[in-house]
Amino acid sequence: MTGLLSLEDAQARLLALAPLMPAETIPTEQALGRYMCENIHAVRTQPPADLSAMDGYAINGPGPWQRVGESRAGAPFGGTLILGQCVRISTGAHVPAGADRVLLQENAVVAGDHISAAELPPPQRHIRPRGFDFGRGDLLLTSGTRLNPASIALTIAAGRSTIEVVRLPRIAILDTGDELAVNPAECDSHQIPASNGAMLAAMFASLGFDALRIGPIRDDRTALAAAFHEADSADLLITSGGASVGEHDMVQSALQDWGAQIAFWKVAIKPGKPLIVATRGAQLVIGLPGNPVSCFVTAFLFALPALRAAMGAKTPLPSSQSMRAGEALPPVGKRREFLRAVSQGNEVRLAGSQDSSALRSLVEADCLIDRPAGSPALAAGEPVTVFPLHIS
Ligand code: AMP
Ligand code: MG
Repeated sequence: MTGLLSLEDAQARLLALAPLMPAETIPTEQALGRYMCENIHAVRTQPPADLSAMDGYAINGPGPWQRVGESRAGAPFGGTLILGQCVRISTGAHVPAGADRVLLQENAVVAGDHISAAELPPPQRHIRPRGFDFGRGDLLLTSGTRLNPASIALTIAAGRSTIEVVRLPRIAILDTGDELAVNPAECDSHQIPASNGAMLAAMFASLGFDALRIGPIRDDRTALAAAFHEADSADLLITSGGASVGEHDMVQSALQDWGAQIAFWKVAIKPGKPLIVATRGAQLVIGLPGNPVSCFVTAFLFALPALRAAMGAKTPLPSSQSMRAGEALPPVGKRREFLRAVSQGNEVRLAGSQDSSALRSLVEADCLIDRPAGSPALAAGEPVTVFPLHIS
């Protein structure tokens, strides 16, 4: 559609404007979901000594053995075993000098301190050799990696209690609309509960963000420009509502009053056409439409990718996959359409109403079907592109 940006162009322009946050050092334990800005080399060796992988007896020689002590995890046996000796050993305990294998507890025949076995285990059996997982100096994780529970554990095991990561951008979320009620329990018939701010905050919380909430603010240029100052120190400001062309859609003009410059406006997608992207110095502003589903879909396609880029993601856009239409789909107009849908196996079916205000079908949906502009009707069984809606 002339005048409107394509989704790809709009996303590319947005991502080019997204500010990459500087590095900070934080406790490794708090780094879930963060992007690393350093390589992690082990500062210790794991395991630090030969350790037993099982409960049993560390033995020297073909047996039988005289039990001469115990090696427990955290309390090693200090001596050296000679031929015919053994120690009781627990999982994770040091294998004492002189021991060359571990006899499983269940295979041991115990008579007081005299231990024997019907069958001798092979050499090195049930011993985790020193440094088999990693050695001091090994490169374990590279800069740019996103930390998950396993990589947090590896970093701590490698001896690092702190880690350098990209700082999270400070985010402000602003709702605007004269009709918005703060308290959903006290909402007149001329009002609508302000749900977008909470929805956006919840979407961003999935990435680890604790956003500043502003508003709801009236559809008033002066009030909005004043409210934007609450976001003066935010790296990203996400607004919802007031982004269209209506007489009461004040976001664009108030953004300019605040000192922001509009980078682009309107994208050829449905829902979500009246998207605003603006900058104010290094700050990025994304003005999302007010209809709750338009707000959700544009947050999914634009706001979340911008946040991911700012927090250091190299591939910030959501990923899609090919599935099969479980039912016929109608033709598409001039704007690329994102349809709420429910997947089952490799098939997708439309979820309830596709009206851009309908929240129940959004709750039902677990994915969006991506239909290119101008597509003819599609028969059941045909392939479709689908964006799963899990947010991370
Ligand atoms: P607008 O984009 O301001 O024209 O708003 C479009 C529709 O979205 C209107 O029906 C609004 O009532 C609704 N809307 C706007 N902001 C919100 C919000 N924060 N929460 C829920 N609905 C909203
Ligand atoms: Mg409005």
